[in-house]
Amino acid sequence: MSILSDILTHNTRFVERREYEPFLTDPFPDKKLVVLTCMDTRLVELLPRAMNIRNGDAKVIKNAGAIVSHPFGSVMRSVLVAVYELMADEVAVVGHYGCGMTGLSCARVLQKALDRGVPPATLQTLEHSGIDLQRWLTGFDSPEDGVRQSVAVIRQHPLLPREVAVHGLMISPDTGRLDLLIDGYADRAGPVAAARSER
Ligand SMILES: [Zn+2]
Repeated sequence: MSILSDILTHNTRFVERREYEPFLTDPFPDKKLVVLTCMDTRLVELLPRAMNIRNGDAKVIKNAGAIVSHPFGSVMRSVLVAVYELMADEVAVVGHYGCGMTGLSCARVLQKALDRGVPPATLQTLEHSGIDLQRWLTGFDSPEDGVRQSVAVIRQHPLLPREVAVHGLMISPDTGRLDLLIDGYADRAGPVAAARSER
């Protein structure tokens, strides 16, 4: 059986047996929290358990490396939608040790694309169209750096309300232990912090 048919067979039983009932909730995050984290398979169940996030508690945005690659891309848009439309008022960027985006090499990815049949002319066309593949397909030197960069892009975004706290954390993909990198309450550029810095 294919994975797809496994999923569909399971799904029919899941719905028939009303196994969804424990998960019923509304679209608003009870903890008023947005989590941006990595798509790593080890975090699928571990991260919510380790952070005590249940269905209905948080908006969870995932991509490779928990990276905000562009201040006007889809990740930042999701954060803003969560804040303005869904009443989230804190953001937690959660990177993890051993992230595959550490040292991701653009050249290596493109070589694999060529090996899988993408014509070399396609890469040239993309480059001539002004697409900076090198920048787009590059990870970070360390996952901690990645978290700091993502927090900075979110924190400094011109459309993010100043009172929203943006935290940075690292999680162990084995034990679920969290290490705090950036305390968003201390870093928050709210009226109090701003007044303090003006003195
Ligand atoms: Zn990762």
